[in-house]
Amino acid sequence: MQLYEFEGKWLFQNMGIPTPRGHIAGNLEEARSAAHKLGYPIVVKCQIFGGGRGKAGGVKFAENEDEFIYCVEEMFGMKFGKEKVEKLLIEEKLSVGRELYMGVTLDPGASVPLLILSAQGGMDIEYIARDFPHKLFEKPLDPLQPQRMYHMIEMVSKAGLTGEEMLQVSKILLKLVDCYFTYEAITAEINPLIIDLGGKAFAADSKVEIDDSALFRMREVSNFERNAESLDPLEAEAKAAGVSYVGMDKGNIGLIAGGAGLGMASMDMISAHGGAPANFLDLGGDATPSKTATALRIVLKTPGVEGVLINAFGGINNCEAMARGIIQVIEELNPPQTIVVKMRGHSQEEGWALLEARNIPIVKFGTTEEAVILLLEEMRKKGVTSSGRFG
Ligand code: GDP
Ligand code: MN
Repeated sequence: MQLYEFEGKWLFQNMGIPTPRGHIAGNLEEARSAAHKLGYPIVVKCQIFGGGRGKAGGVKFAENEDEFIYCVEEMFGMKFGKEKVEKLLIEEKLSVGRELYMGVTLDPGASVPLLILSAQGGMDIEYIARDFPHKLFEKPLDPLQPQRMYHMIEMVSKAGLTGEEMLQVSKILLKLVDCYFTYEAITAEINPLIIDLGGKAFAADSKVEIDDSALFRMREVSNFERNAESLDPLEAEAKAAGVSYVGMDKGNIGLIAGGAGLGMASMDMISAHGGAPANFLDLGGDATPSKTATALRIVLKTPGVEGVLINAFGGINNCEAMARGIIQVIEELNPPQTIVVKMRGHSQEEGWALLEARNIPIVKFGTTEEAVILLLEEMRKKGVTSSGRFG
């Protein structure tokens, strides 16, 4: 789960990382009252997930009330891609001495979190990373080895900081590492960390993503409000039903798989035979008829889907229950799409019998490959070419 800047800063504050004084505003009145409490100059920041916000006009400065009102009114109407601005973070404007970058993110190659520090930060961090890689200092973090202050001091000193600045930054770096592990983040980033002209350091921005699989352990984070509109509606529906669904940009074959591994193998097989998966859906455990039905409805609604492969095992799931869910949707929607089912395991005979009685094409003992080939054949019979359009 990706967090808004103000939510990430709230976690930072919990960990003792200094952030600028600020308030969140959902309308002009709240913005006015925030400005009243802060005094000028002020920074107004659109709360959106997209990157490059500052450069796209999503961060503005106001020296007085006129400028502030103008800014706020303009920003509430703004759109960044599909994202509408609904909240503004109103903060005191810091006087910038220098800007640094620090972040912890998962290094998929090494399979450990990587701590990154740059003595130069701000909006051009991508270019700094590309053109001046020697300015970035990295440290792989062993999750079983506690990080200590002296580790941080070593890294911050290497980046060229000294004295009080070095100490402050080292403390914040250690707290950021702590934040990353405490909240089971995938990424926790401060860019920029501003050292103001008085020599005090603040996290001026936050980018935090929490591991979805850990959310159930973190009520305070999972309670952060999310506007349903900001989620893909099908993903939101799937989430509510307890299935994991990811839509793909292109593709004409919907997929329901029992387990993520089988799902990925099925996607590969679909691609290998010239098809294109339109989504990834893992049914997970506890596949009741109604959960299976919801999954199938979601996949049938996925734009561009012309055929559906259901590839599941009856291990902890029951094939008969899944078959009931599938039939329920077919009777309810009479979908034009071809549906092929490969389902084996617990209560398979009962499940197959139900599907066969409705003439739903099934693969009983065959492989995923046979199921994919059968689906593509059935689709071709209906005039669908593998490129995804009706002929
Ligand atoms: P981003 O573009 O979404 O990363 O937005 P940031 O929150 O990082 O802000 C963009 C830039 O605005 C930063 O790199 C800073 O240079 C500047 N900025 C942000 N907050 C402050 C502030 O409180 N005071 C000053 N002077 N500049 C700020
Ligand atoms: Mn930033």
